[in-house]
Amino acid sequence: MTNTFLQGPILKGQRALVTGGGTGIGAGIARALGAAGASVVVNYRRSQQEAQRVVNDIRTSGGEAIAIQADVSKQDEAEAMFTAMYDQYGSIDILINNAGIQWDEAFLDMSLEQWHKVLDVNLTAQFICAQLAAREFVRRGVTPDLSVSAGKIICISSVHETIPWAGHVNYAASKGGLMMFMKTIAQELAHLKVRVNGIAPGAIRTRINRAAWETPEAEAELLKLIPYERIGEPADIGRAAVWLASDASEYVTGETLYIDGGMTLYPGFREGG
Ligand code: NAD
Repeated sequence: MTNTFLQGPILKGQRALVTGGGTGIGAGIARALGAAGASVVVNYRRSQQEAQRVVNDIRTSGGEAIAIQADVSKQDEAEAMFTAMYDQYGSIDILINNAGIQWDEAFLDMSLEQWHKVLDVNLTAQFICAQLAAREFVRRGVTPDLSVSAGKIICISSVHETIPWAGHVNYAASKGGLMMFMKTIAQELAHLKVRVNGIAPGAIRTRINRAAWETPEAEAELLKLIPYERIGEPADIGRAAVWLASDASEYVTGETLYIDGGMTLYPGFREGG
């Protein structure tokens, strides 16, 4: 699927960092940003090969990208990643806080380790990276040739920032917390011309939710939750991220954009209620 409105180098010259960019939604966003003219850092935690494949795809399409390893929930590793990015590209204009995990368990059985691990990656890592990026945006200020904003942060959240999710309390709490994190720093940084927004994907076909779509039976059950009657693809999120990162959305800050085929429209109420 293409979108002529956002085709072309709408992000030309801008430098973007995508955490967890080697797979799934992050890879879809990295490819979309690269196609829109940004130089893209594809962060990965473990699989250099996956990240390099995304880098190669971007370069093959005429774009610019590099892969940088870091566990973004560790402050020292995140700092080293930003330093390596500045060595290569000079600065940062767009941060996509995308890295995330699930470690599901019934609440009654959930260990503190499961709680902390998910909060560390899904929430604390977003704090670490957003703070590092925002400090650079503020230090550098607006570069009028590149963008009317000093910088853009996009927090990849989930429909579970608003939909409670039994058996996933660590994940849902991390995403609910992320929404208020996003809105609070958006409020705090707006006068500095830093824009902060969230994207809340519904069910996107990636490995994180493979069990929910890999058999026809599971897919049929999942589709009952999606009024638009298809599972989302990483490219659906990529197009929205390009728009939110671009000056086309200049006056948008502190918003969550739900990209979910209507999952948050309470589809159970189509017939009931
Ligand atoms: P994914 O597992 O393919 O992507 C997650 C990425 O984050 C992986 O590349 C992983 O290696 C990376 N990562 C995990 N911990 C990391 C760390 N400490 N440091 C650096 N990288 C790390 O799954 P995805 O679906 O593409 O998930 C991406 C984001 O989208 C997550 O934040 C997830 O919560 C969110 N999300 C996904 C869906 C969906 O339906 N797929 C829906 C809502 C939200």
